Formats: sequence, C-alpha cells, structure tokens
Amino acid sequence: MKTAVKEMSNWNIEKIRADFPVLSQTVNGKPLVYLDNAASSQVPQVVIDRGAKYLREEHSNIHRGVHYLSQNATTAYEAAREKVKRFINAREAKECIFVRGCTEGVNLVAYSYGRKFVNEGDEILISAMEHHANIIPWQVLAEEKGAKLRVIPINERGELIIEEYENLLNERTKIVAVSHVSNSLGTVNPVKEMIATAHKFGVPVLVDAAQSVPHFPVDVQDLDADFYVFSGHKMFAPTGSGVLYGKKEWLDKMPPYQTGGGMIRTVTFEKTTYAGLPEKFEAGTPAIAANIGLGAAIDYLNSIDFAAAARYEHELLEYATEKLSAIEGVKLIGTAREKASVLSFTIENVHPHDIGTILDQSGIAIRAGHHCAQPVMQFFQVPATARASFAFYNTKEEVDVLADSIQKVIDVFA
Ligand SMILES: *Cc1c(COP(=O)(O)O)cnc(C)c1O
Repeated sequence: MKTAVKEMSNWNIEKIRADFPVLSQTVNGKPLVYLDNAASSQVPQVVIDRGAKYLREEHSNIHRGVHYLSQNATTAYEAAREKVKRFINAREAKECIFVRGCTEGVNLVAYSYGRKFVNEGDEILISAMEHHANIIPWQVLAEEKGAKLRVIPINERGELIIEEYENLLNERTKIVAVSHVSNSLGTVNPVKEMIATAHKFGVPVLVDAAQSVPHFPVDVQDLDADFYVFSGHKMFAPTGSGVLYGKKEWLDKMPPYQTGGGMIRTVTFEKTTYAGLPEKFEAGTPAIAANIGLGAAIDYLNSIDFAAAARYEHELLEYATEKLSAIEGVKLIGTAREKASVLSFTIENVHPHDIGTILDQSGIAIRAGHHCAQPVMQFFQVPATARASFAFYNTKEEVDVLADSIQKVIDVFA
C-alpha cells in the first residue's frame, strides 16, 4: 500500500546507541529491541557514572550538614536543580521542586493547591486521555470537597475537542489538568493555546509533562504553564527522580504537602513555621542520587543536540506509522495529526498480551495493557492495546524487526 520512505535525518545513531549499555544485550538469543520508552527509558553510561560517583565519593545527607561530604552532596543536588531550571527555562531554580515522579507531582498539587483553593461546587477540568496519575488525585479531591470533575472529550483520532474545552471552562473552574503528550495515544495537545484560554478565566493549568520532556525541548515560560510535572525515569534518569515546576506566585500561596524534617524554619510544640521554596515542598530525605542523576541526564541531552534527537525520533515514528498501517489486520489506536513517540495498535483476533508475549520471544520489548488510561480504552472500546514507544536511540532496522514480527503474529493466528 505504501510508498518508499524518505531517508532519515543525519543522526549518528551508532554513537548514540553506544552511550546506552543496556541496548547492546541479547534477549532470547535476539538483539534487544527496546520499544517501551513510554513506560521507562534507558539510562546512558554518563548518568550511571554520575550516580556511582555520588555513591562512591559523595554520599551524605544534604542541607543540614556542615561537614565536607554533606556540603559536596548539597552542592551536587542544587546543581541538578539549576540544570532542571535551565532545561525547562523556569524563571528561578526554586520553582523546581524535586519529587518522586510525575505521580507525586500531581498529588502534591491536588492536595496542596486543592486543599486551599478548591471548594464545594467548584469544578476541576481534566481530559479524556489522561493517565490515571492525572485523574485519580483530582477525583479524590473532588469527592472530599464536593467539587465536580469535568472531562474534555476526544475525537476518533484521539485529539482533544478544543471547542468543548472552551465550553467547559467557566467561573467555577478552579484548575485545568491536562497532559502535554498522551502516553496511550501519543497525541500532542495544544497546551500553550489551552493555557492562554484558561488564563482568560483566571484558571491555572497543570500540565502532565511525563511524555513531553523526553521527546522535545520545552519552555515553561513560553507555555506559561502554572504547574509542569514530569518523571526522571522517562527522560533517561533513574527512578525516584522527578520535578514539579510551579510558578512561584502559586507555590508561595500553597501549604506544604508533606511535613517533617528539612521543610521547616522553626518548630515548637505550639507552632511550626515553614521554610521557603523549594524546601517547603521537600520534606524528608529526597532521592539524592537519583536527582543528581537527573541533572546528569540533562547534561547528556544538552550534549547530543536534543532538538536534532527530537527530529530524528519524529521521523522514526512516521516511518513506523507507515509500516504498521500497511500491515493488513493492524489497527492503529490514536491517529492524531500531532503525535510524539507512541504507536498504539491492536491486531484483529489477537489479545494485546499475546502480541507482547510473542514479540518478547523475538527480543522486542513493547507494552500491552491499558497503559494506566482505562478511560481511553473505554472510548475506543478495546480492553487494551499493544504499544510501541520510541526514543532517539531506536532505529529504522528495529522498526523493520517490529513490523516483521507483527506480520508473523498475524500469520500464526490467521
Ligand atoms: C508515566 C506517566 C505518568 C506517571 O509517571 P510516574 O513516573 O509513574 O509517576 C503520568 N502521566 C503520564 C502521561 C505518564 O506517561
């Protein structure tokens, strides 16, 4: 059915792949084809080395120490925060709160902002393509407060229906929470325009950025996002690292989310006063090594020309889309005009879990399931999908292996 595919961008794929030690292994006797990047991405050697250096030479608790190791650890930790600030173009490093990941970032805002600013009869606006991490915290808040959760619908391509969004916004809306890129469909949402619209109503917007920061450069000031949350482990850093960016104007008005050590100014049994940003939101000992690793992952992205990486990866997605669409029996779920990284699909008469298991025998790692987005599955009336998700270290040859293996699945089951 399809035409020849144009040549890929000039991108030194061999060199890039060599940066990621995990990619050179074999699985079931076949070269690993890692296409589960939307669940978690792989970690380059420089990030592994940075984490190891901390553990070997610098390990110590941060902030409260006067000794040499503690000061070194604190310096490294705060340097990572500076890197995050520059990477997303925040105004100030203290607007970047380290959290355990995207899930904790959303929970923090739902709990803290929600507790203070959402009341009975208010409305919380999310979308029909959200990850459970950007649904349930709002649902719980709505239940507690007697507020109403409202949902921006999607169309058959898996795009937000923007006119409906505009109709749903009103003076009762207290927050909009929407993903920048959908993890189940790959849709890139027009968040900049959506934020501008919400701001006309004076409504702040939280952007779930778990699937945007690993795939293209972002600028929180240009987007004018009020909150922007993401996980380190989806952007080439270790698990346990992550960031909640919030505008200082909001974070200053919000109460702490967790309390304990590290977030106080003074404590007596009568009264506690809190530290300023970012410490106010970082109670307890954080994931020091992981967040230093996140800083190293950002250095790595800067070193490889991330914009070029994004272009290459997008071409790979287009190539894969063409190849899979050409296979009879494959149905793509999520065909938005603006997409990133993710290719969800089903095969007639084959359960996605079986697809995943059979592909694994060929060394291919994809994900099969509801991708923590059950409402999306309900909308498309499928129990689950198979999902291949790409990073800039994947290759055209890997896409070919994927397509051939899918064809084999169809041949066996047909
Ligand atoms: C993975 C993901 C999350 C949750 O991230 P955690 O790292 O599990 O906290 C939230 N939203 C989207 C869109 C995701 O892809």
